[in-house]
Amino acid sequence: MKLVTCGLPYANGKAHIGHLRTYIPADVYVRYLRLKGEDVIFVCGSDSHGTPIVVNAEQQGLKPEELVGIYHEHFQKIFKELDIEFDYYGRTDSGYHHERTKEIVQRLLNNGYIYPKEIELAYCPRCERFLPDRYVEGICPYCGAIARGDECDQGCGKHLEPGEILEPRCKICGTPAEYRKQRHYYFRLSAFKEFLEKYISDLRGTENALNYAKEWVRGELRDWCITRNLEWGVRFPEDEELVVYVWVDAPIGYISFTEKACEKLEKDWKEIWIDGNAEITHFIGLDIVYHHCIFWPAMLKGADYALPDAVVASGMVKVEGRKFSKSRGYVVWVEEDYLKSGLNPDYLRYYIVNYTSHQRDLNFSWHVFRDKVNNELIATLGNFIYRVMHFAWKNFGKVRMEVDGEVVNRIRKAKETIEDAIERWEFKEASDAFMELAGFGNAFFQSSKPWEVIKRDRDEAERTIASALAVVRALAVLAYPVLPRSMKAVAETVGMNPENATLESVLQIPEYVVVGKPDVPFERIDDEKMEELEGIMMKRIRDNTEGEMKMDERIGIEEFQKLDIRIGRVVKAEKVKGSKKLMRLEVDIGSEIRQVVAGIAGEYEPGQLEGEPVVVLANIKPAKLMGMESDGMILAADVNGKPVLLKPEKDVRPGARVR
Ligand SMILES: [Zn+2]
Ligand SMILES: [Zn+2]
Repeated sequence: MKLVTCGLPYANGKAHIGHLRTYIPADVYVRYLRLKGEDVIFVCGSDSHGTPIVVNAEQQGLKPEELVGIYHEHFQKIFKELDIEFDYYGRTDSGYHHERTKEIVQRLLNNGYIYPKEIELAYCPRCERFLPDRYVEGICPYCGAIARGDECDQGCGKHLEPGEILEPRCKICGTPAEYRKQRHYYFRLSAFKEFLEKYISDLRGTENALNYAKEWVRGELRDWCITRNLEWGVRFPEDEELVVYVWVDAPIGYISFTEKACEKLEKDWKEIWIDGNAEITHFIGLDIVYHHCIFWPAMLKGADYALPDAVVASGMVKVEGRKFSKSRGYVVWVEEDYLKSGLNPDYLRYYIVNYTSHQRDLNFSWHVFRDKVNNELIATLGNFIYRVMHFAWKNFGKVRMEVDGEVVNRIRKAKETIEDAIERWEFKEASDAFMELAGFGNAFFQSSKPWEVIKRDRDEAERTIASALAVVRALAVLAYPVLPRSMKAVAETVGMNPENATLESVLQIPEYVVVGKPDVPFERIDDEKMEELEGIMMKRIRDNTEGEMKMDERIGIEEFQKLDIRIGRVVKAEKVKGSKKLMRLEVDIGSEIRQVVAGIAGEYEPGQLEGEPVVVLANIKPAKLMGMESDGMILAADVNGKPVLLKPEKDVRPGARVR
């Protein structure tokens, strides 16, 4: 038995092309395994917990489970429309998942791999709460970049442990956070160093994942804080006030979803996850290798569960040659950009699998997309298949299958190349192999000219079309995992059912084949469609670039913090002689009385101001106005060029800081 899983999509946003880099190849892999006759279970589901979902739900006025529900359904719909078929697609906020997580955490506790520790945690005195992960922002202790509580996402990329971030600040209200002591729980990752070194040296998978893992395991493995102060999540068994960190429970979804799949398939999940009688393969993105190659196997080992056999990581995605970026518009949204344009899902499946090797970076460009569809899928594969089926249907209907030996050899070679490529997760090689077979079939059909031969020798024409038809039938199976929708239709036209077919069956040539009336397998992408598709993207990039420029002009909180703004009280006010605009003020700013010259004499009388509060920028460099020093600046709203002084809404003592 084999279990294949995909990294769980985080239920906090829509599906984009970056997601598909994991799910499409995994689905292709599972379909090939099934064609090889393997018994495969394929699971995935929504990752429902963690602070980004809570923060986002709060902002939208939803409960976290409501927000998760929206994206859970969205992803299920996308997968269905792209023919990505899981045996079970669960969600981690389900009861059964919580039960499994608690059971595993309890085992880790029993086995001595979890220990309590008093730590200093960011706490917002204004919100009166601890600030886990995304609730806190500050400075990365490793590289000095602005970072989130759990990750230096714009700097060095390091995972940050609670309490590590410097100059923490509440993400919700902006108040500087204080550090307060609290008891939390740690997973003893350091105890697994020797185990992990051995495990990773035996682990199979793509080089990109294994190389990172080998590098990390050579370094120091720090124990890992696995509890958080949150309402949303799986309750920590030892302390009901806490939930487990989202990266503890998310991978446990692989187990809990297997349990649900096994219920449906009448299998025993324990054979897979306890007895270790199945090969477990994780398909993931390159950004979560650490979690899958270090944390996850250590947790499984510590809880006496079976270990994964392979970790397959996809390369990154670029869009139109630029770094993938949702905020800059370099993104393709699966639903609104692709599916709503009415494009065949097989085109995208082919592009994702065939553009480059699974481990390399993939560039998505609409021009390349059109070329791959028109010049490869249609010119090489689709035209050949259609011409053969059409010729056979029109002239014979039922074809006696006397097939050329060289043709059978070419089919065998394609099948063997695919089998070998799939073992190494080289989906490009596999899809190149069936395209090459189609190219061979095309050349064979062209050079044999059955449309001329049939005029003088019907038997010879039938032999030619039988050989060509054998290639079409092979393609309907060999290309089925990548192009399930189109190849299913082709297979049915040439008397096959690809859902029962095996890779072996492409070499079993029946005595006769009955060919039905064929449909064109693929539609060309014309210039008009191309303009429409590119237009969507160009508009988005333009809109976002404008937004981005405005963002560049913004300042960070640290720049604002440099301003010393205080509440002052006017002690004395008088008009400056010889000026219509200027007023000389003496202002109590708490620590001292300052002389400030302000351009408010046109709007205010001295008598109106004495004793009144004002807002003062206290650390501006002193300036000379009409020969008088002005040490500070009174803040006012600009109403049609005229100043309107600001004052606090309640009585405030002079010297109070404005933040
Ligand atoms: Zn706060
Ligand atoms: Zn950093």
